[in-house]
Amino acid sequence: QDVAVHFPITKGIFKRTVGHVRAVDGVSLTIQRGRTLALVGESGCGKTTLGRALARLLDPTRGTMRFGDEDLAALRGKRLRQARRHLQMVFQDPFSAMNPRMLVGEIISEGLIAQSIGKNATDRRAIAADLLSDVGLPEAALDRYPHEFSGGQRQRICIARALALEPSLLICDEPTSALDVSVQAQVLNLLKRLQAERGLAYLFITHDMAVVSYLADDIAVMYLGRIVERGPAEQVLREPKHPYTQALLSAMPSVNQRDGERIRLAGDLPSPANPPTGCHFHPRCPHVMERCKREDPEARDFGDGHTARCFLY
Ligand code: SF4
Repeated sequence: QDVAVHFPITKGIFKRTVGHVRAVDGVSLTIQRGRTLALVGESGCGKTTLGRALARLLDPTRGTMRFGDEDLAALRGKRLRQARRHLQMVFQDPFSAMNPRMLVGEIISEGLIAQSIGKNATDRRAIAADLLSDVGLPEAALDRYPHEFSGGQRQRICIARALALEPSLLICDEPTSALDVSVQAQVLNLLKRLQAERGLAYLFITHDMAVVSYLADDIAVMYLGRIVERGPAEQVLREPKHPYTQALLSAMPSVNQRDGERIRLAGDLPSPANPPTGCHFHPRCPHVMERCKREDPEARDFGDGHTARCFLY
């Protein structure tokens, strides 16, 4: 609720603060148990920062992050470590997400040891072997190094590591964008199966609307640190309200698409250190009105939890 992550901009040898980058600026959203919320937006919109804040790899500047009975934003030390067990992260790049000097068995066991899971090394090896089998890899993989595996296999190992602590929420930060398309599909299917078997919730961070339409139950569209549209996936995909969502969806390849149907946005994403006045999207919006340059639209409710921030409605 109202989560913000602002980074100070400093200048000179005394690091005087001269401004702030508002990477995440007052985001409110709900991730339901056993469902997938796709957090969508182009590079630099703040979606990865939000995911990292939720995993408490970053401290939020303000806001509350309720997870069960706890406010994650307020937790420190041992209580935060305990809460992290239920909330794990899968990173974008499986090549840099693992220590190349550790065996896969050690990589998966690290979290088990930290959270005191398993009585001894034999016990932990059995748990790790089960996890590998769950993601489609043989037990022999435990005694090999990450560089001996392909990108898709490495991402499977990262998923097994995340599952080791039996989390109820996985934050997946573009987990398939570094992989070949055919391997992407295998990893997405694996995530779908694991969700069905384990009742996992996913916060799935992506810029790929094709992945969103395949995986998401709910969608939140982020632009310049804010959620501009959110709602049930089927509704947002069928009838996107915000011009930015409409542009993202028009870029999705379709067999029925004709020339000219694609909405091309002017310019690049503005700097979050110096966002535009009024509606932050107005310099790029094909429907911009005078009012949009002065006033900031509130979220308008379209029913069933579908909201959008735009003066067109
Ligand atoms: Fe475009 Fe105005 Fe809507 Fe912003 S409020 S998205 S500028 S029409």
